[in-house]
Amino acid sequence: MNPFLRFSRRRLDRLYTPFGPRTLYNSAAYCTRCGSCMQACPLYQLIPQETYSPRGRNQLLRLALEQKINPNAQDPVLLELLQTCTLCGRCTQVCPGRVPTAEHVLEMRRALNLQVLPKILFSFLQWRETRPRLFKKLAHVSLFLRRIYALKFLRFSGLTLFPGLRWLNHLDCILPKRTPNLQRLLRKEKVSTTAKNPTLIYLPSLETEFLLPHLALKILKTAQKKASVITWSNTATGLFSYVYGDLRQSRRTLRRLIKRHARLANGHLSLLTDSLDVYNFLKRAPQLFAGNPHWEEQARQLADSVQFVTDIFPKKLTLPPQQNNPALLEYGTILDRQSPPVKQAEAILYTLFGKNFVECLYTDAGAPAFGYAFAKGNRADQIGLKTIEKIQRAQIKTVFTLSGLTALELAYLFKHVSPAVRVQHLADII
Ligand code: SF4
Ligand code: SF4
Repeated sequence: MNPFLRFSRRRLDRLYTPFGPRTLYNSAAYCTRCGSCMQACPLYQLIPQETYSPRGRNQLLRLALEQKINPNAQDPVLLELLQTCTLCGRCTQVCPGRVPTAEHVLEMRRALNLQVLPKILFSFLQWRETRPRLFKKLAHVSLFLRRIYALKFLRFSGLTLFPGLRWLNHLDCILPKRTPNLQRLLRKEKVSTTAKNPTLIYLPSLETEFLLPHLALKILKTAQKKASVITWSNTATGLFSYVYGDLRQSRRTLRRLIKRHARLANGHLSLLTDSLDVYNFLKRAPQLFAGNPHWEEQARQLADSVQFVTDIFPKKLTLPPQQNNPALLEYGTILDRQSPPVKQAEAILYTLFGKNFVECLYTDAGAPAFGYAFAKGNRADQIGLKTIEKIQRAQIKTVFTLSGLTALELAYLFKHVSPAVRVQHLADII
């Protein structure tokens, strides 16, 4: 049976589009094949073939749902087409019908059970949702092993060249030299993570908590100037399963988060995130429960409480003089490039940099975050390098991002081709 037609709780019943909820077929049928999105797609820019375009991806879904083709997960063209979409949402940004191609690609991946991450990395990262305590222990052990050069030894021995382990090379390169333990850092700085009558919950993302703890510390200290904050450490939102796994797990994780949130002040506390990906995902949370009014309403309440880190920025910000060179905002995120935090971030950078803030067109930038799109091939690096060429041409000296993972990914690419360029999460300037 056509896998796209089979009913499954592992997939979405309805997509929430800017024009209201639509079934998957209706959503795909809204693509009029006008082609306005072609030049916005980083993949199509790289390989100008119809199959790599957003239009091609939407047509594939439509034809499969109309039973005109029977997609087969073994088909190499289909695999390439589905596994190379960066989920960046640039096509939706320029599409007159705001067709959510990235969501379509995710649905097709789910239907075909396609895995774009190496299995070992997938299992390890999924434990943050299914076995958070074990994940935390393993994450700390891995960081400790790296500190004692065990990863370097593995690389030297050639073991990390084995398929499935190559990501270790990449990860080792993008991490800062030392990654302190956040809890220890907080204790050292005497920063509390609990409050008697909290008014805000800080939810550090996986990357800020485990890889960039100094950034998490800075955000927490700033938030504490405005509110009584508690921190929910090592807390998954369901985003990982949404992108890489199946929706049943994503819903399970979300329900856990919703219940925990509802227990505190009847769910009226704001939830602060430092990752635009988490923000975009949580704002869409109700669509995961379409058809289930109770959970849909609960998810809506959670979505309404979500804030991005730009909301806690101090009113007055100043830059150190050496930073007053051309700067750019890298949108690298998934699903939505037009959500309010992007506008807020642009306004902040305009105020700080004035004419030195280089505006990004929809065809500029868009480096994929590590692992979000590609597990195979070198398309991610190719897109990243194209981004960097554009940034070099504009003589940018600082690139700001809205997620820690994108900051790490871009810093890695710049380190190799243009070490003078600084890459920072926007929250670094508070
Ligand atoms: S996705 Fe949108 S912009 Fe692209 S071809 Fe379809 S309707 Fe046109
Ligand atoms: S989400 Fe990004 S990579 Fe995927 S089709 Fe749209 S523009 Fe292309």
